[in-house]
Amino acid sequence: MSAVLADTAASRYVPSHIAGNPATLTPLQRELIARVSALGPRWAERAERYDREATFPFENYDDLRTSGLLGICVPTEYGGLGADFATYVMVAAEIGRWCGATALSFNMHVCSCMWSGFIADALDMTPEQRADHARIRAIHYERIVKQGQVYAQPFSEGGAAAAGAAPWGTVAKKVDGGYVISGKKIFASLAGAADWYGVLCTLERPGAEGRGTRRDSMYLAVPANAPGVSVFGDWDPLGMRGTVSRNLLFKDVFVPEDARLMPEGLYFQAATRFPHMFATLSPTYLGVAQAAYDFTVQYLRAEVPGMPPVKRRMYPTKQYAVAEMRIKLEATRALFLQNARDATLDPDKDTRMRLYAAHYTIMENANDLCRLAIRTCGGQSMLKSLPLERLYRDSRCGSLMLPWTAELCMDRLGRECLYEAGEKDEAIEA
Ligand SMILES: Cc1cc2nc3c(=O)[nH]c(=O)nc-3n(C[C@H](O)[C@H](O)[C@H](O)COP(=O)(O)OP(=O)(O)OC[C@H]3O[C@@H](n4cnc5c(N)ncnc54)[C@H](O)[C@@H]3O)c2cc1C
Repeated sequence: MSAVLADTAASRYVPSHIAGNPATLTPLQRELIARVSALGPRWAERAERYDREATFPFENYDDLRTSGLLGICVPTEYGGLGADFATYVMVAAEIGRWCGATALSFNMHVCSCMWSGFIADALDMTPEQRADHARIRAIHYERIVKQGQVYAQPFSEGGAAAAGAAPWGTVAKKVDGGYVISGKKIFASLAGAADWYGVLCTLERPGAEGRGTRRDSMYLAVPANAPGVSVFGDWDPLGMRGTVSRNLLFKDVFVPEDARLMPEGLYFQAATRFPHMFATLSPTYLGVAQAAYDFTVQYLRAEVPGMPPVKRRMYPTKQYAVAEMRIKLEATRALFLQNARDATLDPDKDTRMRLYAAHYTIMENANDLCRLAIRTCGGQSMLKSLPLERLYRDSRCGSLMLPWTAELCMDRLGRECLYEAGEKDEAIEA
C-alpha cells in the first residue's frame, strides 16, 4: 500500500481548512465539509490503485451514496441536502484534496442537480414550464436520493461545441412521446459507470432548415443501458485516470419526454446568464493543490508515513520554497472563496472577469504548486510509492478542460478587459 497523507496521528501538523477560516462558513458548509473529511482518508488510500489501474472509484461512490452526498445539490424539498453554489464548491474542493478523480467525476454528477436545481430556479420560465420542470425533476431527483443512481455529463465532442462556439453536433429529434438522440461524445467521465448520461445536444425542429442553433440546446437524461448507447475507445491518460472518461456513441436512442433535465431552451439561458455553472471543475484542483502543499509540509517535517524520518525543514531554502507555496495556495484560495460567494444570475462585468481570473488561477496554480512540491521535496518524493507524482499528473489536466480551458479564460478575459459592451473596432483604410 502506498503512503498517504491521511495518517496524521503521529504529527502535530494540522492541515488548513479547505475553505479558509471555518468560522466564516455556514453550519451546513462546515458539516458537509466535515462529512467529506471523515471519508477522505480511505479515498486517499484507494487513489493509488484507481490511478494505476485507470479504473473507476466505485467504492468511493458507495461512500458518497451512503453518506447522502450524491444528493448534495438536490433541493431539500426533494429529499436532498440543498447545497447552494458556494457550499457545493467548498465540498468539491475537500473531495479533491483526498481523491482528484473522485471529485472531478462527482462534479459531472452534481451538475445534473445544480443545473436543474438552483440554477433553473433562478431563470425565467413560463408558469407551465416551471410546473412541468418541477414534475420532471422530481423523477430525476428520486433516482438519485432514493435509488442512489449516478449521472454523467457528456458534453465534449472534439469540435467547437464544447467551447461554446458552435451548436452541439449531437442531435435530438422530436418524435411521438419523446426524442431520438444521435451523436458522439468524447472524454465522458463515468463512461460505463454512470446509470444515466446527461447529454447536451441540439434540438432539430421539424420542418426548420439547418440543424438548430445554440439556443436549441437540450439537456437530456439517457439511461446508460438504453438500446443504441455504447462506450468505446481506450482510456490510458496521463492524469485523472480514475475518471474513466471514455467516448460514447448514441445511435438513434429513444428517450421519453420526461428525459428533459431542463425545459427546451433553458440550457442556453443558463449558459449565458449563470456563467458560474462552468466554474465547478476548478474546485477539484484547489483540493489537489492543498494536498500537494500538505504533502510537502509533512515531507519536510519527516512525517510522511513509510518514509525514513529524515527532516529537511531546517534548511532556509526549504523554508523559502514552502513559503512561496503557501503564498500561492492562499492567493488561489482567496480567489476561489470570492468566486464561490459571487455566483449569481446575470453577474456584472467585474464579477464575470473575476470568475475567469479565479478559474484560470486555480487550474494553473494547482499545477504549479505540484511542480513546486516536487522541486522542493526532491527526487524521492516523485516515486510512485508516494502520492505526489499522481497529484502532479492530475493537476496537469485542469487547464485543459472545456468550456473554460486556460487559453479560453485568457481569450475571454482579454476581450472583456479592452472592450465595453457593443464596442467594435473600425476597419483601417489601406
Ligand atoms: C480528465 C478529464 C475528464 C473529462 N471529463 C469530461 C466529461 O465528463 N464530460 C465532458 O464532456 N468532457 C470531459 N472532458 C473533456 C474536456 O472538457 C475537453 O473537452 C477535452 O479535454 C478537450 O480536448 P480536445 O483536445 O478535443 O480540445 P480541443 O477542442 O481540440 O481544444 C484544444 C484547445 O484549443 C483551445 N480551443 C478550443 N476551442 C477554441 C476556440 N473556439 N477558440 C479558441 N481556442 C479554442 C482550447 O484552449 C483547448 O484547450 C474531460 C477531460 C479530461 C482531461
